[in-house]
Amino acid sequence: MAGGRIARRNPVPEVELLLRSARVVTPSGVRPASVAVRGERVAAVLPYDCEVPGTARLEDFGDDVLLPGLVDTHVHVNDPGRSEWEGFPSATLAAAAGGVTTLVDMPLNSIPPTTTTAHLDVKRRAARGRTHIDVGFWGGAVPGNLAELRPLHEAGVFGFKCFLLPSGVDEFPSLSPAELERAMAETARLGGLLIVHAEDPEHIDGAPSRTGPRYADFLASRPRAAENAAVERLIALARRTGCRVHVLHLSSSDALPLLAAAKRDGVPLTVETCPHFLTLTAEEVPDGATEFKCCPPIREAENRDALWRGLLDGTIDCVVSDHSPCTPDLKRLDSGDFASAWGGISSLQLGLPAVWTEARRRGVPIAALARWMAAAPAALAGLPHKGAVEPGRDADFTVLAPEKTFTVDPARLHHRNRVTAYAGRTLYGVVRSTWLRGRRIYGGPAGAPGDARPTGRLLSAVPREPAREPAAPVRTGHRPGGPATGPAPDPGAGVPQPAATTERGTA
Ligand SMILES: [Zn+2]
Repeated sequence: MAGGRIARRNPVPEVELLLRSARVVTPSGVRPASVAVRGERVAAVLPYDCEVPGTARLEDFGDDVLLPGLVDTHVHVNDPGRSEWEGFPSATLAAAAGGVTTLVDMPLNSIPPTTTTAHLDVKRRAARGRTHIDVGFWGGAVPGNLAELRPLHEAGVFGFKCFLLPSGVDEFPSLSPAELERAMAETARLGGLLIVHAEDPEHIDGAPSRTGPRYADFLASRPRAAENAAVERLIALARRTGCRVHVLHLSSSDALPLLAAAKRDGVPLTVETCPHFLTLTAEEVPDGATEFKCCPPIREAENRDALWRGLLDGTIDCVVSDHSPCTPDLKRLDSGDFASAWGGISSLQLGLPAVWTEARRRGVPIAALARWMAAAPAALAGLPHKGAVEPGRDADFTVLAPEKTFTVDPARLHHRNRVTAYAGRTLYGVVRSTWLRGRRIYGGPAGAPGDARPTGRLLSAVPREPAREPAAPVRTGHRPGGPATGPAPDPGAGVPQPAATTERGTA
């Protein structure tokens, strides 16, 4: 960090942009500051009233909060193959409007799924030149593709996703217990990361299943016990194989003690939850309102409170959207049948205000959101140049008016399909502008649009050397043959990581 006196008189040279705010969220706290941007990176965080360098343009945001651009590691873009559900242009524009500057795309619901390097190439071709924010890809672990994991890893996926029960699409089947263990052993050998939809099939099969519009019936069909059992199995396998495991979209708060104990024991484990689990409750879901359907489901208010405690005590690391849209017909809005409706809640554009509204009510400071929604997901995926406002990182920012409210109007969403569980809600936190690598990509002084050209890049993980001790944390990464890229990840995030690089030569 630049020293006050010297920086005041002699700001860092060749600064092109100076972003000033009374509330800049940095890893070391929220304070008045001026963020100097040189090229695509943060050059320095200077005193609020530093001189504006002669070379620089000043943007003064007044009291609006300058946050790091959010990193959403759980997004289903569904492109190509189901681009009528979403797509790279609409998903990334919605993300930009929601303050998200990096997303990592899930390997399923697109056709093909990202389960081979050839399929990864297809996805990259579909995304290249069509994204408003930076985009990376998860690979998939499915029955029969064990030999593909290494090539996918080397081709730059950020890890592998798997299911323990049917995923909802035929082309992405689930792993049997034996296949799961083999996938974990192989992932450990690669020094990779396995991210898991943790619901146990036997508990789901054994739960009462009723069709119809009653939310209580749907909730009973996806019991907490299914999540708890799956989490228990993952912890046991992570202990045995040393595989780094990430629990996706945790809903059951009953699993928190297990997760906390495993983390205390040093099991290489991270956990995410989602805005809808933190903000919505089963008690308020109207019968037939299938826009609230997701798997695992939104549970009771008391469960929501416990998830907040899990976040605050560090058991849960990340808050990411699980943005998983579909066409309105598949939501069965006419019959309201929860059993046959597609499960998924679209919140790329709304995650930040939704979580902030609830955080604010609970007295949780905005800096915590920067940790859960930017630093920790960046560390999870291994993106050392993303997720924080500090020198060396990409100049990705979200400017938020945290005390301003708005009412969610689906017509104003950029999601391709505007079905949303948040319709009509009044939320705190208006995203004023979003910046990607030093350029405004959304918002403007008088509500003028940012740069409408899709200037996002495709991101690749650089595989680290397979570790002798698979769970050994790697704190900084380097490109092969190159210098270290970016600073060490936020130590508070507690997630070991490989390095990542940006794909050059986007079309
Ligand atoms: Zn998902």
